Amino acid sequence: DEIVSPDAEGDERAVEAALRPKRLDEFVGQARVREQLSLVLQSALRRNRPPDHVLMSGSPGLGKTTLAMIIAAELGAPLRLTAGPAIERAGDLAAILSTLSEGEVLFIDEIHRMSRPAEEMLYMAMEDFRVDIVVGKGPGATAIPLDIAPFTLVGATTRAGLLPAPLRDRFGFVAHMEFYDVSELEQVLRRSARLLGVELPDEGAHEIARRSRGTPRIANRLLRRVRDYAEVRSGGVITRETAADALSLYEVDGEGLDRLDRAVLDALLRKFGGGPVGLSTLAIAVGEEPETVEVVAEPFLVRQGLLARTPRGRVATAAAWAHMGMQVPLDALG
Ligand code: ATP
Repeated sequence: DEIVSPDAEGDERAVEAALRPKRLDEFVGQARVREQLSLVLQSALRRNRPPDHVLMSGSPGLGKTTLAMIIAAELGAPLRLTAGPAIERAGDLAAILSTLSEGEVLFIDEIHRMSRPAEEMLYMAMEDFRVDIVVGKGPGATAIPLDIAPFTLVGATTRAGLLPAPLRDRFGFVAHMEFYDVSELEQVLRRSARLLGVELPDEGAHEIARRSRGTPRIANRLLRRVRDYAEVRSGGVITRETAADALSLYEVDGEGLDRLDRAVLDALLRKFGGGPVGLSTLAIAVGEEPETVEVVAEPFLVRQGLLARTPRGRVATAAAWAHMGMQVPLDALG
């Protein structure tokens, strides 16, 4: 529902599928991850063995699912998609693992939300391509070992820090996905505009990229909203002004801050004098779950130099006061 929410919903999934780069060389940005991954994949192909398990961490909408699809495509392997919250019991995972074909890529999104028993089953599967199926309960329970086909696990998480060390250590390669810079987002936008048949002059691309929170999913979404606006109000031409006007209409400000970002800053400044304040107190003040504030708003605010996470709590920077058009109180400086 939120125009700048980094999560995809409803019809957007279909549009996203159409805009997804299919191969590694079409994937924009993340130069380091791309190079590292390309080596992992090439060497696996040479050895004719499935590559090491891959963990991707980073904020929502930075391209983790896209990259998992690319991994499978580059390997010429089938892909199975699932998500941590869908794996409630160890049996759910056993059902998936036991039906994988040799070399298949298994993508588990939000892997940090898998249940404990499933997670423990995954350890053995990742290491030995084997699981123990427990039959019965109590003293009579027996474990039946089951071999599974060698596969590659691709896990995605917005919070690598939440993964238990034994799980994290079983990934041979960890890809840290960064926010994209403006010129990378311009490339994403130009590519999407071409695929959508939208004419996008450089100044329009720049204005949208600047306000996309460093996130390709948001860039693509803003592009569609700006296109709608341009079609209705300005004969379809996306000038800098059209883009800026359209995005202001959707409450995306000049630095790409959305309603939630501004609500967080506003509460931090007005209610807590700039902090420090604890995450849950701040979340209550804006009427959101702590996880939403922590995963969706904070990484971007930190990156923009507007908010700092300190051991004593969240603190607004001088730039935050300026961005919100407020004077830094004298006692907030000491
Ligand atoms: P989530 O974890 O929230 O599902 P995600 O990190 O998996 O997010 P994706 O679904 O892979 O994100 O990407 C979101 C959209 O952004 C896709 O439509 C894709 O087209 C686009 N996109 C992501 N990364 C890139 C990229 N590097 N180049 C071009 N388009 C990209």
